[in-house]
Amino acid sequence: MVANLESTVESGEVAMSIDLDWPEIRDGVRNVCAEFPAEYWREKDEASEYPTEFVNALAAAGWLAALIPEEYGGAGLPVRAAAVILETIHHAGCSAAACHAQMYIMGTLLKHGNEDQKRRYLPGIATGDIRLQAFGVSEPTTGTDTTQLKTRAVRNGDHYVVNGQKIWTSRALQSDLMLLLARTTPADEVKRRTDGISVFLVDLREARGNGVEITPIPTMINHNTNQVFIDDLKVPAENLIGEEGRGFRYILDGMNAERVLVGSEALGDGRWFVDKAVEYANDRVVFGSPIGKNQGIQFPIARAHAELDAAELMLRKAAALFDSGRDCGAEANMGKMLASEAAWHAGDTCMQTFGGFGFAREFDIERKWREVRLFQTAPISTNLILGYIGQHVLGMPRSY
Ligand SMILES: Cc1cc2nc3c(=O)[nH]c(=O)nc-3n(C[C@H](O)[C@H](O)[C@H](O)COP(=O)(O)OP(=O)(O)OC[C@H]3O[C@@H](n4cnc5c(N)ncnc54)[C@H](O)[C@@H]3O)c2cc1C
Repeated sequence: MVANLESTVESGEVAMSIDLDWPEIRDGVRNVCAEFPAEYWREKDEASEYPTEFVNALAAAGWLAALIPEEYGGAGLPVRAAAVILETIHHAGCSAAACHAQMYIMGTLLKHGNEDQKRRYLPGIATGDIRLQAFGVSEPTTGTDTTQLKTRAVRNGDHYVVNGQKIWTSRALQSDLMLLLARTTPADEVKRRTDGISVFLVDLREARGNGVEITPIPTMINHNTNQVFIDDLKVPAENLIGEEGRGFRYILDGMNAERVLVGSEALGDGRWFVDKAVEYANDRVVFGSPIGKNQGIQFPIARAHAELDAAELMLRKAAALFDSGRDCGAEANMGKMLASEAAWHAGDTCMQTFGGFGFAREFDIERKWREVRLFQTAPISTNLILGYIGQHVLGMPRSY
């Protein structure tokens, strides 16, 4: 694991590398990924199984602790380095979906948790002994309109009593801790709709069967996502993160990092698709010549490559701004949107390049094609990003 910062940023300057940065990270992550070939992922997909061995290997090598400061046992690397880790995993044909949340959820604890909470949890998260993989935000009735969430937490002496329901809570069955968003003051008693929401660390090891029931949702990809039913769950008051009622802001704080990291996964998938498409287009001979000689096959692949390069530049800019403490809301949102769309175009192009074989499971294209579709919907859908750009960047009226 690399512990030093590759570039230092002084006096508010933003340093952005345009080279293949963090080569030692890329090599190290590829070494772990080499142990998990396509057959591993195909079998996990077919059995809808959590890739425990892969997550353990990543944790053991220290890659999941990249963003945790050294004083808590992590590597203290910048977001750009974490983005490179995730991009490399996906470029290698693996998937970080089973564990990526730890990287950005941890940010809420790190930035807004008290010293006791950080000392209690971060070292264990850094070694992989404590899994903080579940993020309970989405609810069935309120969707993207997060401030209207219905889950309630009511203070009762030294604990809160929580009631409500979460949906799409990925990895809840494989996680030790869940970061939970719940209303502590009813929506009609607050000035701003973003007020009165709090964030808690819920210890799922104790909560399961004691106020929390988790039911998997069968989906078109192997994502280990769930419904979480919360019924009179007792959460110790010491598990409240930061101040009561300010949780929505805390979550928003972490969202730019989330956009950069998830966008980098999409970028890695896109690169994987382009590699596969180029290789197949060069090898597959039909009508006496490689299919890649035909512009109808070659140009969409070239276009996908160009779109991925453009998305990468935006993601690098967002990470550079983030790592130098500057606002990167616009860039992080645009980077995530562009990467998710470029990856989808690359995936669809790859499917078309493979012809009928794209549908055969043994080539892995159809699996990756299913997986890459998610980036346009979760963790944030494209329309909401466009709404953000329209309002906050271009100054048009609020659309939601
Ligand atoms: C596999 C998977 C894993 C997930 N993991 C998690 C997780 O771990 N934790 C978690 O909290 N959530 C998770 N989610 C939830 C995910 O973040 C949401 O599905 C996503 O944010 C969209 O919310 P929704 O499904 O309720 O759609 P809705 O809010 O119902 O929206 C439906 C459609 O309408 C559009 N729309 C809504 N309002 C507007 C508007 N004002 N203007 C324009 N368009 C609009 C949306 O963009 C979307 O396309 C996951 C989802 C999936 C599918």
